[in-house]
Amino acid sequence: MGKVLYIVVPCYNEQEVLPETAERLKNKIGRLREAGQIDAGSRILFVNDGSRDGTWALIQSLCAADAVYAGVNLSRNRGHQNALLAGIATAVEHADMIVSMDADLQDDIDAADRMIAAFLEGNDVVYGVRSSRRKDSFFKRNTAQFFYRLMKLLGAEIVYNHADYRLLSRRAAEALLSFDEVNLFLRGMVPMIGFRSTTVTYERGERFAGVSKYPLRKMLAFALEGVTSLSVRPIRMITSGGLLVCVVSLAMLIKAFVDYFSGNVVRGWTSMIISVWVLGGLQLFAIGIIGEYIGKTYMEAKGRPKYIIESVLLKEEDEE
Ligand code: UDP
Ligand code: MG
Repeated sequence: MGKVLYIVVPCYNEQEVLPETAERLKNKIGRLREAGQIDAGSRILFVNDGSRDGTWALIQSLCAADAVYAGVNLSRNRGHQNALLAGIATAVEHADMIVSMDADLQDDIDAADRMIAAFLEGNDVVYGVRSSRRKDSFFKRNTAQFFYRLMKLLGAEIVYNHADYRLLSRRAAEALLSFDEVNLFLRGMVPMIGFRSTTVTYERGERFAGVSKYPLRKMLAFALEGVTSLSVRPIRMITSGGLLVCVVSLAMLIKAFVDYFSGNVVRGWTSMIISVWVLGGLQLFAIGIIGEYIGKTYMEAKGRPKYIIESVLLKEEDEE
């Protein structure tokens, strides 16, 4: 008897690509089963993240047709990270290992074989890492690279070029679920779990069909979430920035006095107006960052549920 594998796939308006994804993942499960690497109870779990198109209807018909498919329907759109966590929470009750991947087939599904092999060798966490970003647009590649650099600079531990294609053992998934935070940034949280981990590299392709569900607006929000949920370094930067400004203003004070006593007060207007602007800007920026953390504390304090499951379609370990 092999181990039970669950492949968790969050889906938001993915009706164009879902039939192909379902077919390929089913073949993958079939081959792994034949090779004796996984148990017959293994499943492909689609999480419908409040799609507005026919995604859930498609998932329902897939589940009706074949027990290898399972589905979770969220009560509304909660975003990729929450949908993924809902899927992991459902899968952890049945699975020995959970692989998460996007619905759009950008992640090479054959890399899952190597992830499973790494799991069987005793790893609890296996990160899928992209070998290159050649297929990304110039803009996405550079903004993403900038993001990873920034995260590193800010002291957050994340795996370079790893998105949300990864394998978690059951105990790693349970550990992840024990994190109570509402602001989810999974790729930053997983390294905090610990356990033995390794990486598997793969070539990330283009979206098979449909359009990206991560427009620039969502990407920026996600990056900000990442920085502020993983690191308090921005706060410290404000403190040292404030200290620096104090030192500079001391020098300015001396200069102002010198100017005053030498009788040319009006000439100070330029430096005056510059410091008004610079300080005003700095203060606003600082207040903004502080507000970001206060906002987060507020959200955490409320302890709202991260997602609400409307229904689950899942046939338990069966003979088909
Ligand atoms: N997704 C989701 N909820 C959302 C947005 C996206 O579940 O609100 C899913 C989407 O269906 C896909 C994955 O998250 O499976 C990654 O999205 P996408 O491929 O559009 O992002 P990109 O690869 O362009 O960064
Ligand atoms: Mg994609």
